[in-house]
Amino acid sequence: MPSTQGNHGGDDPPREPGGEPVSRRIAIRGDLLDLLDDPGFDVVDSPEVRFDADHWLLVEDGRIAGRQSHAPDPSWTRLDHSGRLVMPGFIDTHVHSPQLDVIASYGTELLDWLNTYTFPAESRYAIAAAARYGAQLFVECLLEHGTTSAVVFPTVHKASVDALFEVALDRNMRLITGKVLMDRHAPPELRDDVEGAERECVELIERWHGRGRLAYAVTPRFAPTSSDAQLAMAGGLLSVAPDLYMQTHVAENRDEVRWVAELFPDALSYLDVYRRFGLLGPRAVLAHGVWLDGDDRALLAECGAQIAHSPTSNLFLGSGLLDWRRLEAAGARVSIATDVGGGTSLSMLRTLAEAYKVQALQGSRLTAWKALYTATRGAARALGLEHEIGSLDIGSTADIAVWNYAASPLARHRDALARSLHERLFAFMTLGDERNLESVLVAGTPHVRAASG
Ligand SMILES: [Zn+2]
Repeated sequence: MPSTQGNHGGDDPPREPGGEPVSRRIAIRGDLLDLLDDPGFDVVDSPEVRFDADHWLLVEDGRIAGRQSHAPDPSWTRLDHSGRLVMPGFIDTHVHSPQLDVIASYGTELLDWLNTYTFPAESRYAIAAAARYGAQLFVECLLEHGTTSAVVFPTVHKASVDALFEVALDRNMRLITGKVLMDRHAPPELRDDVEGAERECVELIERWHGRGRLAYAVTPRFAPTSSDAQLAMAGGLLSVAPDLYMQTHVAENRDEVRWVAELFPDALSYLDVYRRFGLLGPRAVLAHGVWLDGDDRALLAECGAQIAHSPTSNLFLGSGLLDWRRLEAAGARVSIATDVGGGTSLSMLRTLAEAYKVQALQGSRLTAWKALYTATRGAARALGLEHEIGSLDIGSTADIAVWNYAASPLARHRDALARSLHERLFAFMTLGDERNLESVLVAGTPHVRAASG
């Protein structure tokens, strides 16, 4: 455990909500890496890569205050991670907290998978103690994978939302979540109704939205599980509070797309269902988007909504391959997400490695730079949070992950043979996972990692 002693005269040290006092001045030594802008596909020697080998990153009052090549004066608490990689914490734009219980479940596609595994697991969150335990475990797991911000689906139960927000507030984390809306095509114990759901949403928004680093997302699970009246209610919430987020799923799997076409015969497409109910805007996060057409891509670009690309989930459930290049060529935004438990790991590194393969299957190549950008500044930008997260910019909140370049004999062997920075980072991305994580800080506070083993 690093010292958290500060040196700041007679003032009381700052205290995070529910936490220990934090040092006001921390200096982290290591190889500082972040991306200044989207490096694009194919560009291995990108000018957008900011890499300062063996530098000190200065963190003051939870924010990044500077960088320098020489050691700071003794008033700074020093965390020496020389020879390690210091990056912004990852941002996972789509993940389900209760689905840690069903990760790695065999043998189904989306609609079967929901009924067989997911809905029974989510039913347990009706019990507040189960929701609290699940939220604690989930947030702990995120941090243990180097993910410091996330856009999260809990369950339909209000207790699951309260629990997640409470845990995130306690750690001063940037977290976006909201009550899942489902009033049809789900087991009775997971169904709400329009009036009750609206009342609970309003209560939760008033309690949590804008508190600490938290934000509320209006969260219809997906078009098939909400009635027209419920989707209209969700659109109504967004129309009176445009700073709310919206999260849902779209066009993940072909059977699902066919089902939506039957349920909403007047809509031009699956995505168009959400447009009709006022759910699309720059704060909309839509998971998957595998089966979209040119009109959908144009609509995404027009409204500024983002697709949360979930490669491990799309491969595991056999859903399909995202045409990332075509989306971006149309002007749509793409972030990257684990989608656990359809996804198979909370590790953004493993997710990026699978994203590379999804592009490779379509004759395209994802550089380490493009991948790392998308998981950090790119996601922050798509969420409208670039001023706060996703980079090592001065003034940003110090959500930082420190990584070992290589965590196994094979990876160390490969790392030693790398001839360029991109080659080194690409091997790190392809071979790395949570075992590479050395340390993580949330708003400048070192996360105390659970004992391993
Ligand atoms: Zn999902």
